Amino acid sequence: MPIRLLSDKVSSMIAAGEVIERPASVVKELVENALDAGASEISVDVRGGGVEQIRVADNGCGIPYDEVELAFQRFATSKLSDAADLDAIPTLGFRGEALPSIASVARVSLVTRYAGEEVGARLEIEEGRLADKRRQGASPGTVMTVRQLFRNVPARRKFLRTTATETAHIQTLVTRYALAYPEVRFALNTGRSSLATPGSGSLREAIAAVYSLNVAEGMLDIKASDERVERYPVSGMVSQPALDRANRGYMSFFVNRRWVQSRMLGFALEQAYHGFMKERRFPMAVVNISLDYDEVDVNVHPSKTEVRFRKGDRVFSAIQQAVRHTLTTHSPVPEMRRAEPTYSGYTGTPRQPNRYFWPIEPFKPPAADRGEQDGEIARDMQGAAFEPVDGEKGYTHLEALPALRVLGQVRATYIAAEGPEGMYLIDQHAAHERVMFERIKAEAAASMPQSQSLLEPLTVELNPRQQELLGAHQQIFAALGLLVEPFGGDVYILRGVPSILANADPVKALVDMLDEMAQGGDVESWSDRAAYSLACHAAVRAGKIMSHEEMTALTRQLEECQQPHTCPHGRPTIIHLSASHLEREFGRR
Ligand code: ADP
Ligand code: MG
Repeated sequence: MPIRLLSDKVSSMIAAGEVIERPASVVKELVENALDAGASEISVDVRGGGVEQIRVADNGCGIPYDEVELAFQRFATSKLSDAADLDAIPTLGFRGEALPSIASVARVSLVTRYAGEEVGARLEIEEGRLADKRRQGASPGTVMTVRQLFRNVPARRKFLRTTATETAHIQTLVTRYALAYPEVRFALNTGRSSLATPGSGSLREAIAAVYSLNVAEGMLDIKASDERVERYPVSGMVSQPALDRANRGYMSFFVNRRWVQSRMLGFALEQAYHGFMKERRFPMAVVNISLDYDEVDVNVHPSKTEVRFRKGDRVFSAIQQAVRHTLTTHSPVPEMRRAEPTYSGYTGTPRQPNRYFWPIEPFKPPAADRGEQDGEIARDMQGAAFEPVDGEKGYTHLEALPALRVLGQVRATYIAAEGPEGMYLIDQHAAHERVMFERIKAEAAASMPQSQSLLEPLTVELNPRQQELLGAHQQIFAALGLLVEPFGGDVYILRGVPSILANADPVKALVDMLDEMAQGGDVESWSDRAAYSLACHAAVRAGKIMSHEEMTALTRQLEECQQPHTCPHGRPTIIHLSASHLEREFGRR
């Protein structure tokens, strides 16, 4: 075949393929146009999963009568004029491709009235060509109706999923925009379900409308830790760790208010939750990042959901630090509450079922004076394992864990304690794991592992995978105070062990550590995995009877941890039976 230029019709259908992948893509482009037009109300009406009909109505600026046809021409846009503008794009649209693309694969009708004009315009476009244009009375704004999507593109139609699936994609999409623009009233009607946000400007209210009141109450405002990250301000909300989900579908990211899909941003968020949340569970989040327009390139793909950052690593750490800070300062101690009344003869008014394990209000302890107690503990301690963690005495990193008075031990597993807000139960193993973990990390970071040489070196046989890990991560082991040397064949000798392992079986600890590391993992670094494993071996077991002094020492150490509420694996270390809960249970109020 000779080389020929493609006809306009064919070339716009090809272009449309990139922009309009499925019904949700149409909704996306129309909603973005409405937002660019400054609308404060946007309603989306969808039939048949969007294939039959999509209607998006807004109260934005509208399109002047003389320009309506232009809007449907390729590369016609009111948002960019020269190449320099491409470096700093403040609007969601800029390519001038959406309307012509949609029109090439569907029937479109448009009713619009420009803010400065008396009457509006009505336009019918069929197969990409103008079929009708007339003046018509209309309220200010724009109503775009798209029918029979992909009727002329059977190949694309075949790839569409069920109506329910396409509807779900549209719901997800409208949800994202409703979260990114809480000041805009969004309404979605799909024939089966509806969604309406108040448009009050409050993100929490938008979240309540989109997810539920429960979720909204369980979200924490993102607060950055200091001005250093202000260069890339991060705002929005993230869930308390207990409000977790089984997939990543509840994490939304917006760069300069544009919804973006980015593995990197998701990863930054997950890292921030590391140690707060159980493995394979995911937070809910609405994260907004503001960047100078020239720090981000949105012109990567026609669908504009991918972006490229000029300094991706800084964006990564801005998110990670801001969320981490939010979690460490706001995560309250999980409160123990009974889900349902269980005893018979209960006649009180049924209580609201408890929606969260964690209370809504961040726990605020009174300023406690613990200075004098610290000396005592150090004296009374038995065994190296309970020495106070290095650091300023009497200083609590976190305001979230109050000073506790130990009452006794329960089932040789839990420490019962009293605090300003009621009673607390501490899981002795989980708590000690947390303490050990932070100590190991601190010593490794300072290159000061407390190691103890073995008078009689121990031998250990390692399999090839274990040997490989040992070889590849020599520094990690050294930093932890584990001195291992090859002896010949599969045999290695252990010459020194971290002193915290004094009461444990060091050979077993080494082998477990290698196995733990062999499992890999996305989020944890090798050294974190090694440190976990070591902490677990070093920590006091459940079932061990502890003296009052040991329990007090452990409690103090836990209070000094950076993240006292969870063990390194994300299990709780402490639960809270609040004073008000006790009062309720005993019928005192
Ligand atoms: P882009 O958004 O990239 O500019 P589109 O094809 O989506 O390209 O839209 C073309 C033009 O039509 C826009 O630049 C805008 O001027 C106008 N337009 C489209 N939708 C609306 C709307 N809902 N309200 C006002 N103007 C609109
Ligand atoms: Mg557009």
